Amino acid sequence: MTSIQAKTITCPHCGHHTHIELDASNGDQNYYDECTNCCQELHLVTHLDEVKDKLTVVVDADDEQYY
Ligand SMILES: [Zn+2]
Repeated sequence: MTSIQAKTITCPHCGHHTHIELDASNGDQNYYDECTNCCQELHLVTHLDEVKDKLTVVVDADDEQYY
């Protein structure tokens, strides 16, 4: 079983869909990445629900939230 999960996120700046891979074994993460399309900063917050074994990713542009 791999702990790497592929997710698709939507850039809150330009709406571009970006594939990311997350290591769920690290648990909750909070980091910044750059949109490959518009190069603006993305604030990524991941939350691992161990009960449901579900990884939730929130993309925050500091004033909006997308799930
Ligand atoms: Zn973008």
